[in-house]
Amino acid sequence: MPDTTREIRLAARPQGEPKQSDFDLAEVPLPEPGSGEMLIRNSYVSVDPYMRGRMRDVKSYIPPFEVGKVLDGGAVGQVIASNDGPFEEGAWVQHLGGWREHAISDGTLAYRVAPAVAPISTSLGVLGMPGLTAYAGVTEVAPVAEGETVFVSAAAGAVGSTAGQIARLRGCRVVGSAGSQEKIDWLIGELGFDAAFNYKETPVRDALREHCPKGIDVYFDNVGADHLSAALARMRTFGRIALCGAVAQYNEEQPQPGPDNFLATLPRRLRIRGFIVFDHGDLMKPFLEEVGAAVGSGEIRYRETVVDGIENMPSAFIGLLCGENIGKMLVRVGPDPG
Ligand code: NDP
Repeated sequence: MPDTTREIRLAARPQGEPKQSDFDLAEVPLPEPGSGEMLIRNSYVSVDPYMRGRMRDVKSYIPPFEVGKVLDGGAVGQVIASNDGPFEEGAWVQHLGGWREHAISDGTLAYRVAPAVAPISTSLGVLGMPGLTAYAGVTEVAPVAEGETVFVSAAAGAVGSTAGQIARLRGCRVVGSAGSQEKIDWLIGELGFDAAFNYKETPVRDALREHCPKGIDVYFDNVGADHLSAALARMRTFGRIALCGAVAQYNEEQPQPGPDNFLATLPRRLRIRGFIVFDHGDLMKPFLEEVGAAVGSGEIRYRETVVDGIENMPSAFIGLLCGENIGKMLVRVGPDPG
């Protein structure tokens, strides 16, 4: 057992795009689990777009990170010491003590994962929070039906790639947008999207006119901004929009006006619903049954972009917001049993 461990702290609240100097790498004594706690050696820690919002000092559905303190988030690792904690030594556990190599947990919001069933990293991606977000979006928030046209933005990311594939398995025609040719090739060539386009090369409105000639029934919005107004312009009557995220706007310091064509919602009788995955824990069981089986059979594919070393976690987070990931962005900080 080492004497020390490393963690990433928020050094300053980012202004605009986050930069390296907004983060500090600190070496601290290895903590000891108190009564009812366990010490977990993390293997993978997650970087997620929502963390950008937590770096602002504003009230939201989740408290802001504090300057000078270690950040947190999803992580998966092995229990290496337990002081009557909820999981035994040797257990593999998904928990919320991310942005560090070792974490103390009393088991709050932690659950066991089985390396023999699926690679542990998937518990942070396709079979974890992003996958559940995708599932909740297309089954409950903006339910898709066979034969409908579904448009997914940030389609080559963790949430988008899963949402598009679930919709495809439900018999939908699926169109995605992403920021590079490599991503477009993956979406069409491997994930079975019916069409995909690079929004950095073609204006979103033009691309949607070409690829959704009959309009869009369901828009799964991960991006906001120009994507949202372009999708609104092509929504069919009684269409649904799942407002999942607005990654194009997370680094903006001033709130931007909403889509100028918002009133299209009224005559087209659109239903637009924002959602947060935490409210959909009841879907975890059907999600794991359906998506778990489809991942096992290869009907749903996934990719992970893995960056090595806790010291590279800020770069991974900054890169995530610039599209350096294909599929789920992860940081490997310890051994993988896989
Ligand atoms: P991703 O894996 O999709 O990574 C973020 C992606 O956003 C990047 O890869 C990049 O891909 C894209 N992006 C960045 N800037 C822009 C831009 N200006 N315009 C268009 N695309 C951009 O992340 P996640 O799958 O984890 O999250 C996807 C979305 O879902 C986010 O908005 C996130 O906040 C949201 N979310 C919401 C949850 C909820 O409960 N509502 C839960 C989890 C996630 P590209 O190369 O294509 O630009």
